[in-house]
Parts: sequence; C-alpha cells; structure tokens
Amino acid sequence: MVCGQTVSEGPFSTRARVKTEDRIDAEVLAEYNRDYMKARCKGNDSMFYEGAIYRPPSEAGSLILQITVGCRHNACTFCSVFKDKRFRIKSWEEILEIVAQAKEYDPAAERIFLADGDALTVDTPILLAVLDLLYGEFPRLRRVGIYGGPKDILAKTPAELAELKAHGLDILYLGVESGSERILKAVHKGVTPAEMVEAGKKVMESGLTLSCTVIVGLGGKALSQEHALETAKVASAINPHYLAALTLMLEPAAPISRRVQRGDFQLLTPLESLAEIREMVSRMQVENCVFRSNHASNYLPLAATLPQEQDALLRTIDEILAHNRTERLRPESWRAL
Ligand code: SF4
Repeated sequence: MVCGQTVSEGPFSTRARVKTEDRIDAEVLAEYNRDYMKARCKGNDSMFYEGAIYRPPSEAGSLILQITVGCRHNACTFCSVFKDKRFRIKSWEEILEIVAQAKEYDPAAERIFLADGDALTVDTPILLAVLDLLYGEFPRLRRVGIYGGPKDILAKTPAELAELKAHGLDILYLGVESGSERILKAVHKGVTPAEMVEAGKKVMESGLTLSCTVIVGLGGKALSQEHALETAKVASAINPHYLAALTLMLEPAAPISRRVQRGDFQLLTPLESLAEIREMVSRMQVENCVFRSNHASNYLPLAATLPQEQDALLRTIDEILAHNRTERLRPESWRAL
C-alpha cells in the first residue's frame, strides 16, 4: 500500500545530509550508512534492494528492509510505483541475508520499515519470525513499520494483528485513497468503502498505530464533492491516529494518465485541490487524529491535530481561498511523489 510513498528526499526535506569530510563518530556513521543504503536503492543495480524503493515520508530516517518485492494487488490506476515489478515474497534465506547486510551498515538502527508495497501480505508466522529476528539483531530498535493493503488486513485475524503488535510491529500504513464507492471502483482499489472501514477499524482495535492516506483529486472535477464527503465519512469511521492527504500526480505509467489524455478525467487546479481538502476536513469527526498534507505532492503543507485544531486549519485554508493567494502554494514544478 504505497500511498504516501517517497522514493527520495523531496525539495522540502529538512533532513541533514552527512558530508564525507565530516569527522565520523558512531552516530554520524549510522546516518551515513542510512544515506548510503538509500543511495543504493535509487539505482536498480543494487543487490540489497530490487528496483526503486518506496516508503512513507515519516519513515525517512528508517532503515528500509525489502521483505517482499512489488505489490500483490498492483492494480490501482493512479499508482505506477510497482508496475515494473513482479510480486514475490522473499525467501527466508534472502531475508536473513538482507538483515545481515543491514546490520553491517546500520547496527544502531532504531527504526525499520518493511517494504515493498504490501509486506503485510506475508504469512503471520513469517512476519513474527522477521520481527523477532530484527529485535534480536538490532539492540536499539524501537519501532517497526509496514504497509498493509486493506485485503491483507482483512485476511488477518484480530489475534494475528495483536500478536504482530506484541512482537514489536508498531505502525501500519493503509492507503484509503477515497471513501467513495464509485471512485474506489474506478481506480480498481479492490475493496468497497465498507471493507476499507472494516480493515481500518480492525487495525485500530489491534492496538497498532494506524496511519491512513487519502488522495486529493482522485475523483477529478466531476466527483470532487462526492470524494470529499465520502472520504470524510470513511476517515471518521476509522478514526485513525494519523491521516495524510496526498494530491494526485500523474505518472505516465499510471493507467489513470490515459483517462486524462482522453479527456474523460479532469484534474483539479491547485485552488480546487485546496477547496477539496477544506470540504473533507470540515466534515471529519475524529478524535485526536494528526492530520498532515506535508507530502511533496501537495500544494500547501498543512498540519493539525483534529478536532482540536480543526477550526484553525479551516481558517488558514479559507484565507487562501478567499483571496486566491496562489503565491502561498507550492509551484507545480516543485511537486513530487
Ligand atoms: S495497493 Fe495500489 S496504491 Fe498500493 S502499492 Fe499496490 S497498486 Fe500501488
């Protein structure tokens, strides 16, 4: 479930780069190793990573371990990230090998993210063994994250999710994308809004931290209102700990691009995207949910805890919309996935 994905540091990243001329101590070395591994993953010639690696923006500082390759679903029409990868689960021998390599590069890793697209699809006994292995090999490890597709979540029992939590899985990233039945069907998400809610609630009830993403503009101009209203309903029903809004960006390999070229899908303008976020956020009824739109695809970075800061967030948006303050928005050329 790669929604909220980032393949490399975006223009808004504040993460410090480590210069090779810096004096190297243990902490800097660990930082360097993380960057080194990231650099390796950018090319497709790495033995450690197969193809480009995607992770949520909030996992920017994590060590990324690829226990699956690609996405089992791989059908979403807005997503191009794994279209060139044939899905497979890595063998236990391969997992042992990458863990050994990772330990060599970053023995002090505190956060690990399990990639690729829906690593939760791996059978629970194997995932439990992976978690035990990681906590055994990385003494400073304190958090493990994973992408989980709705179908994979639904395929696990509540007891399995709770057991994963007990073995140190901490945060699960779920791409909700939209709450509209028509839109989920049109983009081939493979689940209904009701199933999405069921999956999200199941994660919340397991004790895992849940981070959901929705995609602004996914209904185009025609379904913008429906997208905002129905997504607010689904997000409210799930009531996740974190909710991130990305904005639809077209990659040539994403099937939805063909709809745009044919003229039967109209992208939102930057101000329309902001208005859609406003509509969505204004209707959300969540408890203590951290809302963010700080992904590089968005026109305006926003951050608020809902409902506490809901009104302030809406006022910020209203001020921009009322005065067409496009200068406050990220230029198109700065946006990125
Ligand atoms: S589930 Fe859909 S959005 Fe997520 S990685 Fe697979 S194809 Fe992409």
